[in-house]
Amino acid sequence: MTREHGLTGILALFRLCLSNPVSRYIIKALLKEVEIQGEKRPLLDIALAYFAGVLRDLPPAARFVSELFSAWMELSLALLKTDDKFARELLADPPTRRGVLLVFKSIAANGLGKPMIFEAPFFIVWNFTNMCNLRCAHCYQRADGKLLERELKLPEKLKLVEELDKMFVCGVALSGGEPTIHPDFFTIMSEIARRGMYPAVATNGIALADPHFVRKMKKIGIRYVEISLDHSKPEVHDKFRGVIGAWEKTVRGIQNCVKEGLFTAIATTVTKLNLDDVENMLDLAEDLGVRRIVFFNFIPVGRGRDNYKLDLTPEEREEFMKLICRESRRRKIEIVTTAPQYGRVVLQETQGELAAPTHFTPALKLGIYKAAIEFIGGCGAGRVYCAVEPDGTVTPCVFMPIPRGNIRSESFYKIWREDELMNKLRDRRNLIGICNRCKYRDICGGCRARAFAYFGDPLADDPGCIYCRREFYTLCSRPAEPEKRKYAVLTWKV
Ligand code: SF4
Ligand code: SF4
Repeated sequence: MTREHGLTGILALFRLCLSNPVSRYIIKALLKEVEIQGEKRPLLDIALAYFAGVLRDLPPAARFVSELFSAWMELSLALLKTDDKFARELLADPPTRRGVLLVFKSIAANGLGKPMIFEAPFFIVWNFTNMCNLRCAHCYQRADGKLLERELKLPEKLKLVEELDKMFVCGVALSGGEPTIHPDFFTIMSEIARRGMYPAVATNGIALADPHFVRKMKKIGIRYVEISLDHSKPEVHDKFRGVIGAWEKTVRGIQNCVKEGLFTAIATTVTKLNLDDVENMLDLAEDLGVRRIVFFNFIPVGRGRDNYKLDLTPEEREEFMKLICRESRRRKIEIVTTAPQYGRVVLQETQGELAAPTHFTPALKLGIYKAAIEFIGGCGAGRVYCAVEPDGTVTPCVFMPIPRGNIRSESFYKIWREDELMNKLRDRRNLIGICNRCKYRDICGGCRARAFAYFGDPLADDPGCIYCRREFYTLCSRPAEPEKRKYAVLTWKV
C-alpha cells in the first residue's frame, strides 16, 4: 500500500458519494458551519480533520458527529480495500482537505454532471505585480520593472485571500512580474499559509540567491517554488532573460531551495531556441536535485507576441512530448508540461498504461487517476483554475489576457460562477473545429490560450497539436491581429 492507494480510496469514495442521493443529503448537512476554538468551520472540515487525527479537542456534539463520520470512512475504505492509514495521511494536510471540501460543496450546490461545475477554482495563479528585475523575451505579462499605479493595495489583497479561503480554494501561486521583489510578498504568502491554503511561488530565482531569503520563505510556510531557467548554458539563458549573470544567480537560488528542503521545480519555456537542450536540462535538473521540471508551452502573448516565430511547429511539439514521456520512465525527477496534448501523447505512447491528467501531474498509472481525469483532465482554464492580475482583474488563465471582471467591483465568487466565457470553457462541447470532434477532448481540450493568441477565439483549435497542423501551416503563420479577436485584451498585454 502507498499514498497513491490512499488517493485511490478517496477518489473512489467521491464516486460512491456522488452517485448516492442519501450520501449527498448527509454531505449537505455536514457543510453547515459551526464554531470551534473561536473559528467558524464547516462540520465536514472538522470531521475530516478528526478522522485524520489532527483535531481532537472537540465539544460533545461535534465529537459525536466526527466519530460517526470516522466510522463511516473506515467502513467505506475497508469495502474499497484501501488501507485507511494512507487516506488519513493525505487528509492531515489542510490543502488536501480543502480539495475534498470543494468537491463535496460543488456537488451539493450543482450536482454531479459533465461538465462538473466547481464552486471555486482548485488553485489560482496571481500575477502579483508588474515589477520585475529581468526583461525576458517571452514575458506574458510584458512586465517592465515598474509598479502599475492601479495594482491592488495591501488591504485589498488581504480581502481577496480571505474570500479565496472562504470559497475553499486549495492553493495560490504568486507569479508576476517578479513577486519576490514586492514589499507585500511575505505578508500575503504568510496569510495564505496561515489560512491552510497551499502557498506557492513562481519566480525568476534572483532573490533566492540569498540564502536568508529562502530560509524566510521556508519559515513562513511556502511549500512550492518554481524557478524559471531556460537553458543549461548560462550565456543562452542570460540572452533570453536580458540580464548578464542571471543564470548564475538563478541556479544559486535553486540550490538554496533544494538545500532548505522546499518542493523545488525548474520551469523552462520550450521554444526553437532551446528545443535541442531538453535532455541537457533534464540532466541539470537531476544534478541540482530538484523534484520536478515543468516544460511550459510557448504562447504568443505579452512580449512573447513579438517573438511568435520562436514557437515550435506541431511536429516539433509532438516529438518533444514523446521524448519527455520516454524520459519520465527512466529519470528520477517528475517531468511535466503545460501542453495539454501531453495527456493524449502519454496514453498513446504507453498503450493506455499511464496518464498525465493535468499540467502538474507527471505520467502515472491510469487506474489511480481515471476518476480524476473525467473532471480535471487537460486545459484547466476557467474550469479548475483561473488567474488574477496585479490590479484585481480576473482572467481564465495567465496566458489568456481576456478580462472577466475585477475583484474591486464584484466578488471573486460572482466572476467565477457567472462569467459567460468561463462557463463556456467548462463545457468542451462548446469547442469548435478539430478539438470539438477529437476523441481526446476530455483529457486534453487544447490550450485555450494558444487558440486565442493565434485565432482570436479561445474556443478555436489549438494550433500546437499535430491533429491541427493544417491550421498551423495555413492560418497560423502569425498571431491574430487585434481586429480579429473575439474578446478585448488587457491594455498592458496588447
Ligand atoms: S485535436 Fe484538440 S483536443 Fe484533440 S489532442 Fe489535439 S489539441 Fe487536444
Ligand atoms: S489555456 Fe489551458 S492549457 Fe493553456 S496555459 Fe492556460 S490552463 Fe494551460
